[in-house]
Amino acid sequence: MPDHVFGRSTRGRLPTAARGEGCYIIDAGGKSYLDASGGAAVSCLGHSDPDVRAALHEQLDRLAFAHTGFFTSEPAEALADSLIAAAPEGIERVYLVSGGSEAVEAAIKLARQYYLEIGQPQRHRVIARRQSYHGNTLGALAAGGNLWRRAQFAPLLAEVSHIAPCYEYRDRADGESQWDYGQRVANELEAEIERLGPETVMAFIAEPVVGATLGAVPAVPGYLKRIREICDRHGVLLIFDEVMCGMGRTGHLFACDEDGVAPDLITIAKGLGAGYQPIGALLVSKQIYDAVDAGSGFFQHGHTYMGHAMAAAGAGAVLRVIHERGLLAQVRARGDQLQDALQAEFGQHPHIGDIRGRGLFRGLELVAERDSKAAFDPARKLHARVKAAAMEEGLICYPMGGTIDGARGDHILLAPPFIVSEAQIGELTGKLSRALRRALAA
Ligand code: PLP
Repeated sequence: MPDHVFGRSTRGRLPTAARGEGCYIIDAGGKSYLDASGGAAVSCLGHSDPDVRAALHEQLDRLAFAHTGFFTSEPAEALADSLIAAAPEGIERVYLVSGGSEAVEAAIKLARQYYLEIGQPQRHRVIARRQSYHGNTLGALAAGGNLWRRAQFAPLLAEVSHIAPCYEYRDRADGESQWDYGQRVANELEAEIERLGPETVMAFIAEPVVGATLGAVPAVPGYLKRIREICDRHGVLLIFDEVMCGMGRTGHLFACDEDGVAPDLITIAKGLGAGYQPIGALLVSKQIYDAVDAGSGFFQHGHTYMGHAMAAAGAGAVLRVIHERGLLAQVRARGDQLQDALQAEFGQHPHIGDIRGRGLFRGLELVAERDSKAAFDPARKLHARVKAAAMEEGLICYPMGGTIDGARGDHILLAPPFIVSEAQIGELTGKLSRALRRALAA
């Protein structure tokens, strides 16, 4: 067979995905895989949702695309209305793009333009956190704090400061309360703003629940509120990157709702299109929009496919399905069941140090030894072995290495579709347990 796709890896062969059926992907050989991570926290409605498919067919028969330099479209307007109706306080406008990295790029550029519009051109610095992931385009990669992803492109990256993540399992000191720990690490933001000079800092970006690089780690209570206070005190914009944790994944449409904190900008993608269409969005406050409106009157940015009518129609249908079928409540209930099932299966496992997360967004951290929390030798590539063994078992999960510092540590991220059944949660833990046993024995 000719082989011309330049895939993620030049080595090895992947199975060919042929069909989707609910929570399963079926390959060309007929093997069925339970999609327990929605790929990378994407497929929140599974792979064959009838309502999303119908909405896409209908839109295709009317209009697939009209360039946003010439037209707006009904699905884009309707999608923006639905998002704003549910968005945190103060968020009033939606800028539609085609994925998470594009949303983050737009957030960083809009933050910069905002300060030009309001006459503070000296503000240009971004602060982010270590062990975060914000995307692979150069601006988003610069913001991300994962050493392995950044290292080879470092000479191309804009300068961004990285403070500590909020990573209780490893970083809360013995005898330190959860609250005190959260305040301590949040205060690193203030120290960094003061070190850089507050008048030069434009934005702080963080994932409310850290996904790919830490494995479903929520902030401890009080942390994000303290971050908001510090940003307000120094006039720094707060960007929440909810590309992975947003759109219902944690049991709230916006993950930050659970923390009771509203940012100035929010990026979303993944679950927004649920895999049916590539789409992302940047949501912004009235204050930012009004500053652009009162100033230059346009955001100096744009992509050919932004606001794509098919993508917007698909995402609009995804949001309708989430609301009409009561899926946020279901995510919370199934999330508790998943956590209980993981605890029952792995709570005493000698090589699982932590089981964490919110809703249907869960992470297991792998350790060589539970007491010392020592990591496995990175050369063993345990995360890759778990992924391969899981695929053999007919399970899609999302293991990753470098959890601790970009080099050491392994975790497994789980993000099953919101429609996962109780029986499928049992199937998930059974297959994961067998895959882990095989990976550890190899
Ligand atoms: N931000 C976060 C938090 C992500 O998890 C990701 C992808 O994993 C991105 C941004 C980049 O999104 P995309 O891969 O759609 O460009």
